[in-house]
Amino acid sequence: MIQLYIPLNFLGVLYREIKQSLADMERLFSLLGQNREVADAEHAQVLQVHHRNGAEIRFQHVNFSYEEKRQILFDVDFTIAPGTTTAVVGHSGSGKSTLSRLLFRFYDIQSGHISIDGQDVRDVTQASVRAAIGIVPQDTVLFNDSIEYNIAYGKPGASKEEIIAVAKAAYIHDFIESLPDGYDSMVGERGLKLSGGEKQRVAIARTLLKNPSILIFDEATSALDSQAEQLIQAQLKDIARSRTSLVIAHRLSTVVDAQQILVMDKGRIIERGTHHDLLALQGTYARMWERQQSKKKDMTEEDDDEADE
Ligand code: ATP
Repeated sequence: MIQLYIPLNFLGVLYREIKQSLADMERLFSLLGQNREVADAEHAQVLQVHHRNGAEIRFQHVNFSYEEKRQILFDVDFTIAPGTTTAVVGHSGSGKSTLSRLLFRFYDIQSGHISIDGQDVRDVTQASVRAAIGIVPQDTVLFNDSIEYNIAYGKPGASKEEIIAVAKAAYIHDFIESLPDGYDSMVGERGLKLSGGEKQRVAIARTLLKNPSILIFDEATSALDSQAEQLIQAQLKDIARSRTSLVIAHRLSTVVDAQQILVMDKGRIIERGTHHDLLALQGTYARMWERQQSKKKDMTEEDDDEADE
């Protein structure tokens, strides 16, 4: 009787674990907006990334719509040189995140080309494209598992030493150590709830472990407190070093150091250049910058008033 009970109990646990993992994967895919209809070409090759300091990304005359009747991107054309950072700014709904979804090939485009180191993303395997790209998303999905598992997810089979090293680099190690169960602490919906900044740091640790040649950073829309934001920005600079980075920016303070800024409006790139170039242009970007600066000033004055009281 006992003999029978143990395996059944074990199977029950296993079943729950598998079901849980599938549910988590489903959730991850749906959050990333993945379209599972995109398939590998019959003769798809493995993506070859040649550059030591990151791959070259090219969008050539890209037109794209999610649904037939509504075009989202119009003739989008840009190159990101290996090892450099390009930031995309623009109003909500202008198509910024769509660029990252297309680079990841969650969807196929209607016309134009998207290539990584000269290879069209439609001619290479999806698995090899996704292996080359690390994403730090707006909202990081945490699995209902230990914090160690959640970091190790970036590189299955990673050693504890590697996990600790990236957690330190992402400034989350001390926080983890302060938890009663340390790296074994359960997180996710059924465990410890982490703040937006902590979750993003777990995502950064995960990405550091994956060590991809391309980095996509989708900045959180919800404001982090300014200390957390500064920390994330400093880390971003660190991980962007020797990689090609695409930053979907919601705050202009993030983009100042980017080698290239693309300003999007209703699916079109309407301005491009460095922060300096774009201020000199006195166009949309310059106006956005001025607005953010005056908003910041208002907030500091409010803080000063509070401090005076
Ligand atoms: P935000 O700053 O708010 O994140 P964004 O500039 O990143 O916005 P996108 O997410 O790229 O904007 O969306 C561009 C447009 O595409 C929006 O009008 C949006 O409604 C539409 N869109 C996004 N995802 C889908 C989808 N899966 N199906 C249909 N339309 C979509």
